[in-house]
Amino acid sequence: MIKYSQQYIDEEDLVAVTEVLKSELITQGNVVREFEHSVSSYVGAKYGVAANSATSALHVALVSMGVGKGDWVWTSPNTFVATANAVLTSGARVDFIDIDLTTYNISTEALREKLEIAERRACIPKVVIAVDFAGLPCDYEALKSLSEKYNFKILSDSSHALGARYKGIEIGHTQHSDVCVFSFHPVKMITTGEGGMIVTDNKLVAERSRAMVSHGIARSTDHGFINFGLGSEIINYSQVALGNNYRMSEINAALGLSQIKKLDGFCSQRQAIAEFYCQQLVNLPVQLPYRNSIFESSYHLFSIRLLPNSSDNLLRNKIYEDGLSKGIGYNIHYIPVYLQPFYQKQGFKRGYCPNAEKYFLDCLSIPLHQKLDFSDQHRVIEHLSSWLQ
Ligand SMILES: *Cc1c(COP(=O)(O)O)cnc(C)c1O
Repeated sequence: MIKYSQQYIDEEDLVAVTEVLKSELITQGNVVREFEHSVSSYVGAKYGVAANSATSALHVALVSMGVGKGDWVWTSPNTFVATANAVLTSGARVDFIDIDLTTYNISTEALREKLEIAERRACIPKVVIAVDFAGLPCDYEALKSLSEKYNFKILSDSSHALGARYKGIEIGHTQHSDVCVFSFHPVKMITTGEGGMIVTDNKLVAERSRAMVSHGIARSTDHGFINFGLGSEIINYSQVALGNNYRMSEINAALGLSQIKKLDGFCSQRQAIAEFYCQQLVNLPVQLPYRNSIFESSYHLFSIRLLPNSSDNLLRNKIYEDGLSKGIGYNIHYIPVYLQPFYQKQGFKRGYCPNAEKYFLDCLSIPLHQKLDFSDQHRVIEHLSSWLQ
């Protein structure tokens, strides 16, 4: 079976993980700190706070940015459900902005229009979560100017985009977004098994996040230890907020630390695979991923659209199912989040984001990962050609 995505683990990774397993600390030691440092310095951010998943990291990031009950957070419907779920977990309300049909990211035009309406109704979102779909950066310059005009913060869910660049600057850099979250799930750019990270230049957000991933407990003297009012006490920790155990273990961090050394290599490999797909598929009636030197994708996914614009998903579904029966693991990213039964129960209806729905009808993610070899790629290309030529 050719998978749409999978992890790439080598000998070095095995050695790194084994070393931690043989050491004294398998959680809450220095390896997590080192991994945080390696990711934050890679993207040029001041602080990194590791978590046990990007889902937890999104929850922590939102709360640390001051989001809670009564607030609005907007995001793209073309994302994994975790992005929107994290908003509800934080206690805020979620809304969706339609996508652009060339990039499949948030349409800045749709965002602008929605902001104008929200301003009149005095319900500007506190945070907009920008999702770098497939690893293609959002148009951060446009987002930033809207965030300054309307006074909201940008959180990027860059689960797909570690290693991607916008205008030559790494995703996760403060030039693009206030706070950024990465995922280290096995199908993502690098893996820790399960894991995620918050990166930011904002000290307060970083400190709050650090406490929130560990029960809301602050060990730093920055917070000042509280006098519990029971006379003189020996206190070595104090809970300053409501938190969870969202910590990453040393074992996971060791894998991440070993993986991030290979990130640049992973990106070039993915780039080369994407390049070859583009060359080979250019004459088929498909829409290839948007390419523009300003938006350097990490190619977490290679999602194409079947053209001419279909009014149903029959052809896509046939190709998808035939692929599965022949050992080609196509995938579909994403069902517009608000069409999930849970979100429909919250009142969202079909037709809410027409572009996201149109895209969903004929999109197909074709296999792309570091283990994909030339013959695998040929099989995928031939399979698509047999249906589309
Ligand atoms: C994978 C993913 C997440 C969740 O990541 P986990 O680390 O699995 O929790 C969130 N958002 C997007 C866009 C993702 O692709």
